[in-house]
Amino acid sequence: LFDALADQAALAIERIQLVADVDKARLAAEAEKLRAALLRSISHDLRTPLSAILGTASALRDFAPSMPEADRADLLATVVDEAERLNRFIANLLDMTRIEAGALEPNASGHFVGDIVATALRRAAKVTGPRRIEIDMPGDLPMLRLDAVLFEQVLFNLLDNAAKYTPPASTIGVRAWAEGAAVAIQVTDEGPGIPPDSLERVFDSFYRVGKTDSVRAGTGLGLSICRGFVEAMGGTIAAGNRTDRKGAVFTIRMPVPDQTQLLDEAT
Ligand code: ADP
Repeated sequence: LFDALADQAALAIERIQLVADVDKARLAAEAEKLRAALLRSISHDLRTPLSAILGTASALRDFAPSMPEADRADLLATVVDEAERLNRFIANLLDMTRIEAGALEPNASGHFVGDIVATALRRAAKVTGPRRIEIDMPGDLPMLRLDAVLFEQVLFNLLDNAAKYTPPASTIGVRAWAEGAAVAIQVTDEGPGIPPDSLERVFDSFYRVGKTDSVRAGTGLGLSICRGFVEAMGGTIAAGNRTDRKGAVFTIRMPVPDQTQLLDEAT
C-alpha cells in the first residue's frame, strides 16, 4: 500500500511539475511578448515626438530671424504640443509601472461623481473639441469612495478615446445611475465601436485594435491604466458596444459605501 501511495505521490508531483513548467513557459512567452511590445512602443512613442521636437527646434534656430511671426508661432506650438505628448506618454508609463508593481495607493474619500465628471469634462474640452456632450446624471446619486485624481484620469482617458475614435460632428454621452449596491458611470460615443473579440483585450497594455496604430496617435496604455485605477478603488470597468447604433460603451461600476460612515470619515 505504501509503495502504491508513494508511486501516486511521485506521479502527482511529476504532474504538478509539468503544469508548473508549462505555466512558466507561458509566462516567459507572455513576458517576452510584453517586453517586445514595450520596446516597440517606446521606440515609436518616444521617438516620434522627439524627432518632431528636434526638427522643429532646429528649424527655429536656423531660420527664426528671417521667418514671418506667424510661422514662428506655429513652429513653437508644434514643439510644445509634441513635448506635451512625450510628457503624457512618460506619465502613462509611470502609472502603468505603479499599477503593475501593486504600488498604487488610492487616496480615497467621499465624492459626488458628478463633481469629478464636471472637472474631467473641463479638462477634456481641448480634446473633445466640437463634439456635443450629452450628460444624464441624476442629482440624488449617493457619494462614492474615490480618489478624485485617479477617477478624473479614468474619465479623461475615456473621453479622450471617445473623441479620438469618432468624427468631430458626433455626440459623446456621459451618464450615471444607481444600480443596486453600485453606481454605474458610462461613456458612450458614435464611433466604429469595438470588435467583439477585442472587448476584453482593449484593457491589455499596448493592445490596439487592428491598424489603429497608423490612423490615430496612441500608446495602447490608456485603457489598461483605467482598469488598474478603477480596480485599485474597488470598482470594475467593462467595454461594450451600443445596440441602438454604432458606437463604443465603457461602463464603470463603483460600490456604494455606507453614507454615514463616509461622512464620519470626513470629519
Ligand atoms: P490608445 O487609445 O492609446 O491606443 P487605449 O488603451 O486607450 O490606447 O485603447 C486601446 C485600443 O482600444 C485603441 O487603440 C482602440 O483600438 C480601441 N478603443 C479604445 N477606445 C475606443 C473607442 N471609444 N472606440 C473605438 N475603439 C476604441
